[in-house]
Amino acid sequence: MALWSLAGCASEANSKGLDALRATLSGTLLLPTDPSFAEQNQPANDEFASITPIAIALCASPQDVAACVNWCRNEGIQPVIRGGGHSYAGFSTTQGLLIKTTPMNSVRVDEANQTVTIGAGALNKELLAHVVNTNFMVPIGTCLEVGFTGLVLGGGLGDNSRWAGVTADHLVSTDVVLANGQSVTANATQEADLFWAARGGAGGNFGVHTSHVVSLVEIPRRQIGAFELKFHGIQDCVSSFMAFDKIMHSAPDRLSGFLAITNLNRPANGTRGANKYPVATFCGSYIGPVDELRDLLRPLQHSGKAFHTEIVAQEFWQAQIDWLSVPKLPVHGLAETAHFTNQPLPAKVVDQLIRRVAAAPGGSPDAYCEVRLMCWTGGKVNTVAPDATAYVHRSSTGLLRPAIWWQPTSSPGLQREMQGWFSDTLRFITPFCQPSAFQNWPYRGLPDALTQYYGSNLPRLTQVKKAYDPNNLFHYEQSIPVASA
Ligand SMILES: Cc1cc2nc3c(=O)[nH]c(=O)nc-3n(C[C@H](O)[C@H](O)[C@H](O)COP(=O)(O)OP(=O)(O)OC[C@H]3O[C@@H](n4cnc5c(N)ncnc54)[C@H](O)[C@@H]3O)c2cc1C
Repeated sequence: MALWSLAGCASEANSKGLDALRATLSGTLLLPTDPSFAEQNQPANDEFASITPIAIALCASPQDVAACVNWCRNEGIQPVIRGGGHSYAGFSTTQGLLIKTTPMNSVRVDEANQTVTIGAGALNKELLAHVVNTNFMVPIGTCLEVGFTGLVLGGGLGDNSRWAGVTADHLVSTDVVLANGQSVTANATQEADLFWAARGGAGGNFGVHTSHVVSLVEIPRRQIGAFELKFHGIQDCVSSFMAFDKIMHSAPDRLSGFLAITNLNRPANGTRGANKYPVATFCGSYIGPVDELRDLLRPLQHSGKAFHTEIVAQEFWQAQIDWLSVPKLPVHGLAETAHFTNQPLPAKVVDQLIRRVAAAPGGSPDAYCEVRLMCWTGGKVNTVAPDATAYVHRSSTGLLRPAIWWQPTSSPGLQREMQGWFSDTLRFITPFCQPSAFQNWPYRGLPDALTQYYGSNLPRLTQVKKAYDPNNLFHYEQSIPVASA
């Protein structure tokens, strides 16, 4: 049994040790008795909120991080790192020591070198605040509250990836506190294997990142096109899904978007309102003139009777802000994951998938199920070789993503039913997708998860793990194992 399985025994020895740790930190060490402990421990996915660490270290500097790592190693306590706390699978929760990087959230733009230095605790919104309204950006995802570090370490996909690449492709260097407490800078010329692994090898595996330098991407034009279309009823949902899927397989890199089929507003009985159910929503953007966007979307518009159509010219940053400004969500549980796709889904599969969503449990704003096709990959993402960075998914065009979302007030029975629907739906889509899954959207029930996340890069990742964390100090349910001899 691993030494680290002792994690979580809040013994007297630990509490004395914690006093000693507290004395070395410039940041704060919170114990379960501290009034802000529960709030600081709350992860984005409420399903994992009951996992309680022995203490939470709010690290203010790389030295604080090193002190925590050394303390964990010496005490045999599991260190788990948290930035934005948005791991779908709760991988930033622990019964050991929770190392939070939140106070290290500085963002500094270097206009001369067209780079930005981002502290490991910064959220997407903190990065965005420093680049908004300039001619430069970093391709990030769609959630302002997600931590930049978690996003970039797992690759990072969003609405700009098809023309600007994955977030990790713009990483220039990263500072990391290793399992031995040493701090290193990894870039193309030093600690190059660690730098390779940092671009897609996912968080929590090789050390604690404390800061990143990222290159800024010039925005090709400030006037762009944006769209939102909605269809309802099984037939129109199927035909519009197929039209969009086909468009995106021959679309220019500058067109990006996703479709979502949801069982929200499920009719209370079999017939009432059934013609408006389920709903398919299509959203995205085009880095080009709105007239060209209209031409590209014509087959979608003609695929059925849209009950909402908006295809408009927008200023680039306004579109980003609209895109990203989702109101802060109430406490909720969720499960999401995605398989990559590289060809349009057959009509029969689309039909079955939509009927599956229409018949899914839940359907109220408190508890609902959905399937999304995220056309966020291909284009520039696929111009990088699969082994050039740890992010291996370089031959895909989209991600097919079932998701469930519930508030803690929904009944445990309904939550179980939705979990069952989620795993069945995942099994249903698997044969029609590539044998790969997105490591930024991890799911504990994914069979052979590491091969799906890292593919042919997995053996090299286990070698990097062996070189940088030979005793597996940083570990969790789907962490990268140490290579065997
Ligand atoms: C609402 C929502 C929207 C999302 N949208 C997108 C999207 O559009 N595109 C996309 O690509 N992904 C998206 N994601 C997934 C998200 O990018 C990943 O879950 C990411 O890992 C979250 O980072 P975090 O810092 O917020 O989470 P955390 O839970 O804090 O961390 C995630 C993982 O990284 C590790 N980690 C955190 N900080 C460090 C560090 N300093 N050093 C080493 N390891 C660290 C943690 O231990 C954990 O294993 C979304 C997630 C949610 C919940």
